[in-house]
Amino acid sequence: MTEEQINEAWAEFKKPCPFCGSKELTGLLGVPDIEGTPVNVMCIPCGAIGPWVYIPTSQADKYGKGEIPSEAMQCWNKRAYGRPSDDYCW
Ligand SMILES: [Zn+2]
Repeated sequence: MTEEQINEAWAEFKKPCPFCGSKELTGLLGVPDIEGTPVNVMCIPCGAIGPWVYIPTSQADKYGKGEIPSEAMQCWNKRAYGRPSDDYCW
């Protein structure tokens, strides 16, 4: 897979904001605690945020500012489609 293909796949993976329709999304990392690091997705234009999900802190450390962990993206996508989570998103 070329980098371009990866970027395309990633763009496809991101669902637009359910409130304003934007795909300008950024990742937020919370304060790590005993359960790991909470991460979520925020819509840059309107500030809507997706559900927080914990990922291991060792994994969270690999993400730079604004990068979106895939777990958080999955939770965001569920919310964007109006399907409340039945598993780990909260
Ligand atoms: Zn929005």
